[in-house]
Amino acid sequence: MIGIDLTTGLLIYLFLWLITLVVLWIRELRRIKAHDWSISNNRLFRCNSCHYSFLMKDEQAHIARCPRCNAMCILLKKQ
Ligand SMILES: [Zn+2]
Repeated sequence: MIGIDLTTGLLIYLFLWLITLVVLWIRELRRIKAHDWSISNNRLFRCNSCHYSFLMKDEQAHIARCPRCNAMCILLKKQ
C-alpha cells in the first residue's frame, strides 16, 4: 500500500476538486454557447392577429407560426 501524509492527501483532494470545477465550468460555457439567443430584427416576429411578439431560432425563416394563436406570421423585410 502507498503511504501518503495528510498534507499530500489534502493537496491531491483539492487538486481533484479544482479539476472537477474547471471541467463543469467549461461544460456550462459550451452549453450556454450552444443555446445562445441573440436579439435582432431578423428573428423578431410579430403576430398580426394577436399582436404577440416572439423570436425564431432560424435566421433564414420568413414565415412562422404564432405560438399563441397558431396563425401564419410573415416577416417583412425592413429597409
Ligand atoms: Zn398570434
